[in-house]
Amino acid sequence: MSAPSTPFLLDFFPQEDAKFTRVAPFFTHLREGRLTTTKCPADGSVHWPPRVSCPTCHRDQLTWIDLPKEGRIYAFSALYLGLPLGMEKEAGAVVGLVELGDTGLRIFSRIVGKKYEELKIGDPVRLDPFPLPDGRVFYRFMSKV
Ligand SMILES: [Zn+2]
Repeated sequence: MSAPSTPFLLDFFPQEDAKFTRVAPFFTHLREGRLTTTKCPADGSVHWPPRVSCPTCHRDQLTWIDLPKEGRIYAFSALYLGLPLGMEKEAGAVVGLVELGDTGLRIFSRIVGKKYEELKIGDPVRLDPFPLPDGRVFYRFMSKV
């Protein structure tokens, strides 16, 4: 009898594989240290998170654009209860919205490098892509203060 596996729909990381989705380039770019998203060449809209079709005009031929690697904390909080699986020992982990320059995008992310008590709204942060133990990649932002 084999060990139970995570149901596919509960594990969003297969999205890093191009055989599952067309947003896989996001993770390829992230491995290169780039934060990217999709832009619609027809109406100019920029999407977050990356899309496979434009939410405005439904065009499915989108282009990839680089986003700023630096931003400022727009809002933040600390997690003490209800931590996601695998983070049980990380009570106090900081998460927040990072405003990326003048893009108008606010990205939800983990914020590392400082404790909750040491941060304030408006603090500068920089992109910090990081490898996961199983070879996948994800992003977070590092405090620059
Ligand atoms: Zn569009």
